[in-house]
Amino acid sequence: TYILQNQDLVRKEDAYVHIDDRGYYFGDGIYEVIRVYHGQAFASWHHIKRFIASAKKLDMNLPYTEAKLNELIDLLLHKNKLTDGLIYLQMTRGIEPRNHLYSRESTPVLTGFTQPFTRNHVVQTKGINAWLTDDIRWLRCDIKTINLLGNVMAKREATDNKCQEALMHRDGTITEGSSSNLFLVKNNVLYTHPATNLILNGITRQLVIELAQTHQYKVIEEPFPVDVLIHADEAFITSTTMEITPITSINGQVQTTYSIGPVTKDLQTKFHDTLPKN
Ligand code: PMP
Repeated sequence: TYILQNQDLVRKEDAYVHIDDRGYYFGDGIYEVIRVYHGQAFASWHHIKRFIASAKKLDMNLPYTEAKLNELIDLLLHKNKLTDGLIYLQMTRGIEPRNHLYSRESTPVLTGFTQPFTRNHVVQTKGINAWLTDDIRWLRCDIKTINLLGNVMAKREATDNKCQEALMHRDGTITEGSSSNLFLVKNNVLYTHPATNLILNGITRQLVIELAQTHQYKVIEEPFPVDVLIHADEAFITSTTMEITPITSINGQVQTTYSIGPVTKDLQTKFHDTLPKN
């Protein structure tokens, strides 16, 4: 398997990380995960645009155009002959002796790899258990940074409690999952947290909102408190890897169960219809 290292494709054994990479010392970097279906990168322009937006928000140099990033992603996936899987793309601020203060002169380090991956049909038809916990993250969750400790701690806690995803709340307001966005359904209306600094505006979230509205569903993007979880008819999470995955129970600070309802199933079918086919 080949790794994208800046603009080169190198064998994994030959890939190299510098000890003074700011990604290593500070988690000073950004990333994207792009899904590949039947050899085609899905929603790659959305991901590239968000990557560029993350770089801008962090005052990082970005020596690549959208078109160049797209070309590099394509090269990598063809070199690795990936048909169904994921492309991981990361850029750190660059290599400098450890110092909180970054210079604006360093050259960012771009890394990319691919990984085979296919849909987990069981999870998408049977749903998952979600674990409700505190959102302990910083106040710029809109930036897709590799600094993921809050998310990592929440995921471990969920798994230790036999749940497949953690849902997080900040002072009683539900934000999102540890690596996904949350939607609730009540009387055929969809509810999700607005795209503020408190969540990552998921590409799947954006596509699902668009899809739902196209099919005459009402979507309300407003913050809601924890107890709303108990009154919802259906709940699901969205992400590049999980697509639309139903939640069948919430455990932890709130306890409730859901059946996998008609709106979730309808959106799953419609979403699958939009994906690249053979
Ligand atoms: N929120 C968080 C915190 C995430 O890490 C992710 C996935 N990386 C998402 C939401 C979903 O985003 P996307 O649909 O772009 O994969």
